[in-house]
Amino acid sequence: MKFDYLIVGAGLSGAVCANLLTSRGSKCCVIDRRLSVGGNLRCEKIHGIDVHLYGAHIFRTSNPQVWEYVNRFTSFNKFVNSPVANYRGEMYNLPFNMNTFNQLWGATTPEEAKRFIEETRVKNEHPQNLEEHVLNLVGREIYEKLIKGYTEKQWGKSCKELPPDIMRRIPLRFTYDNNYFNDRWQGIPEIGYNALIEKLLENSYVLTGIDYTKNRSISKSAKRVIYTGPLDEYYGYEFGELEYRGLEFELESHDCENVQGVAVVNYTDKDVPYTRTIEHKHFVFDTTSPKSVISKEYPVKWKRGMEPFYPVNDRVNNEKYQKYRDKADKEGLICCGRMAEYKYTDMSETIENAMKCVDRITRNDSSASCSSSYAYPR
Ligand SMILES: Cc1cc2nc3c(=O)[nH]c(=O)nc-3n(C[C@H](O)[C@H](O)[C@H](O)COP(=O)(O)OP(=O)(O)OC[C@H]3O[C@@H](n4cnc5c(N)ncnc54)[C@H](O)[C@@H]3O)c2cc1C
Repeated sequence: MKFDYLIVGAGLSGAVCANLLTSRGSKCCVIDRRLSVGGNLRCEKIHGIDVHLYGAHIFRTSNPQVWEYVNRFTSFNKFVNSPVANYRGEMYNLPFNMNTFNQLWGATTPEEAKRFIEETRVKNEHPQNLEEHVLNLVGREIYEKLIKGYTEKQWGKSCKELPPDIMRRIPLRFTYDNNYFNDRWQGIPEIGYNALIEKLLENSYVLTGIDYTKNRSISKSAKRVIYTGPLDEYYGYEFGELEYRGLEFELESHDCENVQGVAVVNYTDKDVPYTRTIEHKHFVFDTTSPKSVISKEYPVKWKRGMEPFYPVNDRVNNEKYQKYRDKADKEGLICCGRMAEYKYTDMSETIENAMKCVDRITRNDSSASCSSSYAYPR
């Protein structure tokens, strides 16, 4: 046995586990089937601009322990996410706030805005689907211009077929504040995501281009395995496939310094096939590149072999996942990360879960598991 732990996956979960375990004296080998480390945080320099290859990643947290931890490796810039929505050429600020209400109805005071919302609400005490739920909360205009098309593209289903609980709350802000997040801290790592992951992995033995599913004998080199990949794949899909929503990215280079004037634009009309366009240079403030790179995000139906992005946490999938999880717990397989836990977690929650996972392992609790709340992807 050369290693204490074999960690499958060099994404944020695997890298944090590796960092915490090696700092406690354990020897870790980290493998990934991709050719580079970082999982979905991976960036690539194009025209001197850090391009987020797997969708825009904005770090945010309200957890002081997570904030202190990441700041051991990097400081963060002052980026604040203030996306805008484009509905058939009409531009609206997000999240829904006084600027949006002014753009929609000319409302200038919170009272006026509340009156407009109240007047357009379609009241329903027992909404049966997402459409009824949203109409009840915010009324027809906000629903049709800013929510319906985007959500239907995102999930590939009509809002009438989606359950109300995927959007329990719709944050309405009655101040002129375009900051998308409410978290205490927010920003992009000054050293970049790739360097952050490399720092986390610096005391581990790292192998890329190795698929665990096809090279299981590698587990003989370690006492225990921490698995951050999809659990249905690990068990050969014996209880059936877990469903995901897929995403495809189209990159465009522009011979122009500034294409859209903001990092994130949401396209909320159903007729535009993509949900968002990202202009990557706006995440940082020191890019001197005369060019720009835009990525368009297209939600797609997921098939086995594609990158799994958003878990579809409906009842059927959650029950299927539980069967896999019970089996993994019985065998003492340590599951950590968004795929092994089959739930969307942002980076803060991912780090928090990895911390809890390592605490449990080092306390010798073989049922190392993490929390199980389900968040709507933002
Ligand atoms: C489109 C999108 C945008 C997001 N934006 C944000 C954001 O703005 N802010 C935020 O906080 N969070 C965001 N997130 C969430 C963030 O991506 C996750 O919190 C984070 O990536 C989870 O890390 P992970 O290591 O669990 O998973 P991953 O990043 O998926 O890493 C898992 C790794 O395991 C490897 N692997 C899997 N199976 C095997 C195998 N059999 N053998 C070898 N290797 C394997 C994979 O190749 C991968 O590299 C976003 C997520 C998505 C999908």
